[in-house]
Amino acid sequence: MSTHYDVIIIGLGAMGSTAAYQLAKKGQRVLGIEQFGPAHDQGSSHGGSRIIRQSYFEDPAYVPLLLRAYELWDEIERESGNEILTITGGLMLGPLESLTVSGSIDSAKRWNLPYEILEANDILKRFPMFSPSPQTIALYEEKAGFVRPELSVYSHLLQAEKYGAELRFFEEVQSWEAHPSGEGVRVVTTNGTYEAGKIIISAGAWAPQLLKELGVNLQVERHIQMFFEPTQGIDSFRVGKHPIYIWEADDNVQLYGFPSHGLHAEGAKIAFFRKGKLCTPESIDRNIYEEEVEMMREYLAQGIPQLNGRFLQGKTCMYTNTPDEHFVVSLHPNHPQVAVAAGFSGHGFKFASVVGEILSDLVIKGETDHPIDLFSPKRFIYQ
Ligand SMILES: Cc1cc2nc3c(=O)[nH]c(=O)nc-3n(C[C@H](O)[C@H](O)[C@H](O)COP(=O)(O)OP(=O)(O)OC[C@H]3O[C@@H](n4cnc5c(N)ncnc54)[C@H](O)[C@@H]3O)c2cc1C
Repeated sequence: MSTHYDVIIIGLGAMGSTAAYQLAKKGQRVLGIEQFGPAHDQGSSHGGSRIIRQSYFEDPAYVPLLLRAYELWDEIERESGNEILTITGGLMLGPLESLTVSGSIDSAKRWNLPYEILEANDILKRFPMFSPSPQTIALYEEKAGFVRPELSVYSHLLQAEKYGAELRFFEEVQSWEAHPSGEGVRVVTTNGTYEAGKIIISAGAWAPQLLKELGVNLQVERHIQMFFEPTQGIDSFRVGKHPIYIWEADDNVQLYGFPSHGLHAEGAKIAFFRKGKLCTPESIDRNIYEEEVEMMREYLAQGIPQLNGRFLQGKTCMYTNTPDEHFVVSLHPNHPQVAVAAGFSGHGFKFASVVGEILSDLVIKGETDHPIDLFSPKRFIYQ
């Protein structure tokens, strides 16, 4: 006879790992299923660092979730003893009217978040690695920094197991089925069939296959995280001296980067925010091409010339985009026993800690006090 679980989680990446942790901690019988190993580099949650910030230019509605996310990052750090979140300060750079700057100011004002505005000259003085064009200004936020994606996934999974979750790796879910009565689910994997009261589908770039009837057009994109060696030594690019940044260039292309923090001791990471190529997890080209590095060098030469040194390595990673680039975090419209976390559109990691809490609310109580209206899949019905 098979064990009956309260919840099965499909996919143990950023969101599945935090959901497993939250649910196991609350005493739920959890089965987590992952097609690869723990904290792998084939999906969306690898490469050493992910930006976290509060003055959220994408929409002020994210801010309360961010404030809770910070508290939960603290909690997992205390429980696991690992440093997952590092505060570095953050610069949102661009022309005043750019989304990066004006959107960040709007969010900061709306929620009374502390910030400073720096003119091009101030930026140069305080952060000499940047060479801003005369029309560039910046919002500086002290609380910004980065989280370590692999360490987050790993720490949440380990804690989940300590609280009794059963986690299975190298096992692929082939299909799931929700009982029409609204109660009970069945999940078929490469190893067998499992039953549970509820499921969470947190499958990252594989979500389009598992969520065909959700009615959300999810598009997967290939992105590249690039590591360069600074031309004048790494010192001024280290944590403590160097902030995280999002820089909107004069042509509105957004780039973002991190200080060097040990994992890639000889280089600092930079990437384009939204210049990916459509792909699928099966078809993604993991090679990095000379012309892609050259395109990055054109921006480095303009804005961060000291980082335009030796190219050290590039790592591909997938975004799963919704049409409006807001997330889908919700109960499934057709199946109340199914919770969905998908379409994080390249900006989800910083929220992973709070998304786990939201998913556990949805599964246990059928609702959450967190403001998630923006993430309903129903918003696409009339599009
Ligand atoms: C280059 C890059 C830079 C980014 N930068 C930032 C940033 O600075 N800040 C930020 O907040 N966010 C950032 N993001 C976005 C963030 O990393 C993602 O939103 C987040 O990692 C998505 O988490 P996820 O749990 O949906 O996907 P994943 O972490 O990929 O997890 C999905 C898991 O499901 C498993 N799975 C899928 N299908 C099955 C199946 N059938 N059976 C079993 N297992 C399955 C997969 O193997 C995978 O482990 C970035 C993303 C990329 C790619």
